[in-house]
Amino acid sequence: MEILINYNLKKLNTLAIEHYASYFVNFNNENDIEDILLFLKENSISRKMFLGSGSNLLFSKNYEGLIIKNEIKGIKTIFENEQYAIVEAGAGEIWDDFVKYTIQQNLFGLENLAMIPGTVGAAPVQNIGAYGTEQSNCLFEIFGYNFTTQKFENYNFDECKFGYRDSIFKSQLKDQFLIIKVRYKLNKSFIPNIAYKDLRNYFEKNKIELTAENIYNAVCEIRDKKLPNPRQIPNAGSFFKNPIINKTQLNELLARFPDLPYFEMDAENFKLPAAYLIEKAGWKGKSIGQAGIFANHSLILINLGDANSKEILNLAFNIIESIEILFNIHLEFEVNII
Ligand SMILES: Cc1cc2nc3c(=O)[nH]c(=O)nc-3n(C[C@H](O)[C@H](O)[C@H](O)COP(=O)(O)OP(=O)(O)OC[C@H]3O[C@@H](n4cnc5c(N)ncnc54)[C@H](O)[C@@H]3O)c2cc1C
Repeated sequence: MEILINYNLKKLNTLAIEHYASYFVNFNNENDIEDILLFLKENSISRKMFLGSGSNLLFSKNYEGLIIKNEIKGIKTIFENEQYAIVEAGAGEIWDDFVKYTIQQNLFGLENLAMIPGTVGAAPVQNIGAYGTEQSNCLFEIFGYNFTTQKFENYNFDECKFGYRDSIFKSQLKDQFLIIKVRYKLNKSFIPNIAYKDLRNYFEKNKIELTAENIYNAVCEIRDKKLPNPRQIPNAGSFFKNPIINKTQLNELLARFPDLPYFEMDAENFKLPAAYLIEKAGWKGKSIGQAGIFANHSLILINLGDANSKEILNLAFNIIESIEILFNIHLEFEVNII
């Protein structure tokens, strides 16, 4: 384990923004945490953060502190019976590799979450979700290190306080709790979930068998058509969360925008597609400097070449302001601004 100084972060974030971390460390063994603690103490460094693949963040300036990149690997089944298995994966495993592995083992529940960039360790942080499910639907337990209590701790499902793109690790325990291993409870019998419109249409059109592997492949195909590959077009996925509004707000908006799409979460709460709001506000295909909006999906901000963080933030805040004026809705960032 080597602590690196003044480390360039450009290759460590999928928006490819150049900033530097005063200190940077890669580690792949939980025993290294003791040395990391010692380094922080001896050098009186109070600021630190954890990093996976950098696909859900924007470095807005140089990072004055230690960035800790978790590369702990390994996947194993730690319990099984006739109905289900509990599979544990190291936080440094690539999420999509883990999903593929579970399908190969005939363990089901994660197939709709195909092709989401990033690591297993980051998946619970914003409770990743797509195509009608969230990782929390299969989560059993999380094991990690709490830098505040200086203890290894387990968090069960309830303790993780999952919400829409949210968890305790993104709020109270942000930059405090380092996720080391994640355990998922996966079914041995396959219950397909194609409630999501695009997925349902795909199976209706292609008339193929409803297997987990086919759902995985269908999701990949749909995502490929819709979303930019960060290696070709640097981006951090959805930049904003889809806003949730109440019934009164919805009725007011429907009177002004009869074509407004919405998703009923419960009798009082409705989720709106932020991409629709952004397009309606006239942002489709627009750019500010080297920061742009992806033509096929208005929720995704892209680096057009050599964007800096100021340009990306400038574009983001301009979008937020115009959505507030037009819809009286405040868009929240889905990406972590650091
Ligand atoms: C093209 C594209 C498509 C995407 N599609 C989706 C999608 O469909 N659904 C979705 O939910 N997200 C999506 N995302 C966002 C992203 O893939 C997820 O948020 C992913 O979980 C981020 O993983 P990461 O390893 O890159 O995390 P990072 O970006 O490195 O980190 C994200 C946050 O998690 C924290 N963190 C990382 N590792 C740990 C750890 N071991 N312990 C504690 N905290 C940690 C970081 O400090 C940071 O706050 C997409 C992104 C891109 C670029």
